[in-house]
Amino acid sequence: MSSRQVASLPPGRARRKTGPMTPPPVHVIGAGLAGSEAAWALAQAGVPAILHEMRPVRMTEAHQTQNCAELVCSNSFRSDDWAGNAVGLLHAELRRCGSLVMKNGDAAQVPAGAALAVDRDVFSAGVTAALEAHPLIEIRREEIDALPPEEWDSVIIATGPLTSPALAQAILTRTGEQSLAFFDAIAPIVHADSIDFSKAWRQSRYDKEGPGGDKAAYVNCPLDKEQYEAFIAALRAAPTAEFREWEKDTPYFEGCLPIEVMAERGVETLRFGPMKPIGLTDPNTGKRAYAVVQLRQDNALGTLFNLVGFQTKMKHGAQTEIFRTIPGLENAVFARLGGVHRNTFLNSPKLLDTSLRLKAEPRLRFAGQVIGVEGYVESAAMGMLAGRFAAAERLGRPIEAPPQTTALGALVAHVTGGHLADGASFQPMNINFGLFPPVEIPKARGKEMGRLKKRAMAERALADLDGWLGAERAVAAE
Ligand SMILES: Cc1cc2nc3c(=O)[nH]c(=O)nc-3n(C[C@H](O)[C@H](O)[C@H](O)COP(=O)(O)OP(=O)(O)OC[C@H]3O[C@@H](n4cnc5c(N)ncnc54)[C@H](O)[C@@H]3O)c2cc1C
Repeated sequence: MSSRQVASLPPGRARRKTGPMTPPPVHVIGAGLAGSEAAWALAQAGVPAILHEMRPVRMTEAHQTQNCAELVCSNSFRSDDWAGNAVGLLHAELRRCGSLVMKNGDAAQVPAGAALAVDRDVFSAGVTAALEAHPLIEIRREEIDALPPEEWDSVIIATGPLTSPALAQAILTRTGEQSLAFFDAIAPIVHADSIDFSKAWRQSRYDKEGPGGDKAAYVNCPLDKEQYEAFIAALRAAPTAEFREWEKDTPYFEGCLPIEVMAERGVETLRFGPMKPIGLTDPNTGKRAYAVVQLRQDNALGTLFNLVGFQTKMKHGAQTEIFRTIPGLENAVFARLGGVHRNTFLNSPKLLDTSLRLKAEPRLRFAGQVIGVEGYVESAAMGMLAGRFAAAERLGRPIEAPPQTTALGALVAHVTGGHLADGASFQPMNINFGLFPPVEIPKARGKEMGRLKKRAMAERALADLDGWLGAERAVAAE
């Protein structure tokens, strides 16, 4: 038994106390960040939850304990600045919604400057104790290794990036997808308004018209020979993140190689791959550039663009430094940096409806990282919403997702429809201000403008969330 395990937890103990008026239970699979929050939201709404967690009967490659909501890696919930950082705003929204994860995160806080970092053992022991103590929650220590039985008429699947293989296979078969999207590498995403369009230009290769009639769908950044060779040298010298032991067996997809691996294969490899300049004319020179970095619109709002073919495993500091040497991206603000790790997530924009139900089988709801959000707080947030949606459904109350102007609503909109590309390129996403509809503010200079915009978005978000919560309370009181 790991020293971090909670020795006092008898597996499989049933605690649920129900009465004649209690509605039938909702089953939640996985007591991670999302599942714990979902079970809590259900119980707080008066709906019993049966929480099925496979640890310690079966462990994942990353979890060390049997605690609910274990943090598998860092102990940070990232920035707690609600007015200047989108994840800080998400913290604030979750607190207003009575989040179990935030309550225990705040209680387990350790010094970390502007970030909310926690003592991981105190945190997850606190979440576990709260769930165990709730009269409407029963925790069952068992692996669900197939699709839930038909008699479970409302289920939330929150089994995370390390969903056990048997359940993953069952979901795969049910959804008819080719894979449960085991992507090994992800590419960085930048905020559109941080691209320098005096150097970059919009054009599709060979001006080819897209399905929407657009001939200028891509943003192009030109490199001359000297810049290209310096870029390749920097890629070859850059430090990369270490693989965990169990990740070493995961092969790269040949069609999805990290750029630094391609750069290792030869100086020209990238120029004949994602950086090929053919079919593009730089309006500043009237000529074809030596090499081009292309960016593709990433969300329906047009506020985010991803670097096409630039999946990478370089350390984050090296990524920002090297990518800012690309002409036009000198001041790029990154909504997400690249990374490589094993991940299990659904093609949610295609498969899920706006209340996170599987369109093909609405009794099954999904939540957490498995729906394509990234990070502890984002996963907890989607668990909280899935729990509220399932509770409202059980109680016969109407409920809609929070408005897209809130961090919660922006995340749901991203995973269920905001992502532009076909599902094939859908990738997990952290919360960031690029997912919010733009806000108009009076003109200001440089960095001040960015600061004011974020604050205005955050204020709008909290006001709109309060409206959404008020409507939910009014329906409950009817
Ligand atoms: C190696 C690694 C490192 C990461 N590092 C960070 C980080 O530093 N910061 C960050 O914000 N995010 C990190 N993440 C992302 C992190 O996983 C998520 O942020 C978060 O834990 C996901 O929450 P979740 O509830 O969706 O999944 P989890 O928290 O993983 O919870 C899923 C739960 O489901 C259980 N389960 C799985 N299959 C079954 C089954 N068939 N039956 C019953 N139970 C099952 C698991 O045991 C687990 O308890 C990391 C992910 C990985 C894989």
